[in-house]
Amino acid sequence: MSRSVPEWIGKTDDTPVPDRVKLRVFDKFEGICPKCTRELQPGEWECDHVVPLILGGENRETNLQPLCTDPCHSGKTALDVKLKARVERVKRRHVGLRKPSRFACSRNSKWKKKIDGSVVARR
Ligand SMILES: [Zn+2]
Repeated sequence: MSRSVPEWIGKTDDTPVPDRVKLRVFDKFEGICPKCTRELQPGEWECDHVVPLILGGENRETNLQPLCTDPCHSGKTALDVKLKARVERVKRRHVGLRKPSRFACSRNSKWKKKIDGSVVARR
């Protein structure tokens, strides 16, 4: 039975994960990447935030998992960034910050194209 230690919680989102906590995260997952189930290699894994910080995840031990740097962590980070961009876009649209579409014959254009292909002025 290992000694129980209080959970590490980063003071801010920028607080780097200390080595002792990385070690605990590594041990908790028994040195195996939870994503691809491969054994983690020295120097080739990183602490990943399960719920990414940019999506409101917390910088704390229970939100950390060890992932191999490539492809698991690099792939997830790219995906997280993509997801964040989408969340942001939806939010903007919801608040009404979306730029009006500039496509020809879009709703904001003074012209509209009818189903038969003819273009008429919007009234
Ligand atoms: Zn992996």
